[in-house]
Amino acid sequence: MAGPVAIVAAMQEELGALLAAMPDEQRVRVAGRDFWVGHLHGQAVVAVLSRIGKVAAATTATVLLERFGVRAIVFTGVAGGLAPGVRVGDVVVATKLLQHDLDASPIFPKYEVPLTGHARFAADTAISDALAAVVAGVLRDPVALLGQAVVDDFGLHAPRLHRGLLVSGDRFVSTAAESAALRRDLPDALAVEMEGAAVAQVCHDYRVPFAAVRTISDRADDAAHADFLRFVAVVASRYSLAVIGAWLAGLSSPARSG
Ligand code: SAH
Repeated sequence: MAGPVAIVAAMQEELGALLAAMPDEQRVRVAGRDFWVGHLHGQAVVAVLSRIGKVAAATTATVLLERFGVRAIVFTGVAGGLAPGVRVGDVVVATKLLQHDLDASPIFPKYEVPLTGHARFAADTAISDALAAVVAGVLRDPVALLGQAVVDDFGLHAPRLHRGLLVSGDRFVSTAAESAALRRDLPDALAVEMEGAAVAQVCHDYRVPFAAVRTISDRADDAAHADFLRFVAVVASRYSLAVIGAWLAGLSSPARSG
C-alpha cells in the first residue's frame, strides 16, 4: 500500500511527544494546521493535531486524505469512561464508532448518518487488532512506562484494555447526569470523546482504514475536570507514544517510498 500513515492526536501534549520521536519531520501548513511529515520507527507518517470537536477532526481527516494521500488514519487521545468497568487509566480500542449527538429523526433513525445507512462505523479490524495487542503489552507493566510515583498518584495499578463502541459528540461530558443519559441511550458505549466518529465517517467515505485508541482520562462525570490536563501530559501522552511507536515498529513493510 502506498502513502504515509496518519497519526492524529487530539491534544498538544500528545502530539509533542510523538514529534519529539520523529527524527526528520517537516512542517506543511494547510487550513491553519501544522501537518508534520516524516518518519517514526522507519514508517512514513504524517502527524497532526486535529483540534477539538467533530468538524475540526473531519476537516483534518479530509486534508490528510486529499492532500497527503494517507493510507490509514489512527486517532490517539483521551476519552471519558462510560461503561461501569471502564476506569481512568484503562485504554479503549474502538471496534465501532457512533455520533451520540446526531439525530435526524424521524426522517432517519436516531444516530444514523443521513444517506449512508450507518449509525455505527466500523474501525479497521487488522489495525485495531494490532493496536490492541500492543496496548495489552503496555498495560501489563504500567510502572515500567510511567514510574511508580505516577502509578500510585493516579491509582493505575491494574489498567485494562477494552474493545467496543466509542461514541463522539461536540460536548465535553462532565456531569453525572449527562453520562447517565448516554449510558441509558447507548448501553454498550464504552467511552465518550469528541472526534473519533467524525473521522470514521470521513474514512468510510474515502474507503480508507481507520482506527482509534483512547486512554480513559476521566469518568465523564462531575469530577471530569480534576487533573485532566496533568493526566494527559503525564499518563496519556506516554501511553500514546508507546502504543503508536510499537505499532509502527511492528508494521511489516516500511512505507518509505510513500
Ligand atoms: N476543556 C476540557 C478538555 C478539552 S475537551 C478541559 O480542559 O478540562 C476534551 C478532549 O478530550 C477532547 O478532544 C475529547 O475527545 C476528549 N475527552 C476526554 N474526556 C472527555 C469527556 N468526558 N467528554 C468528551 N470528550 C472527552
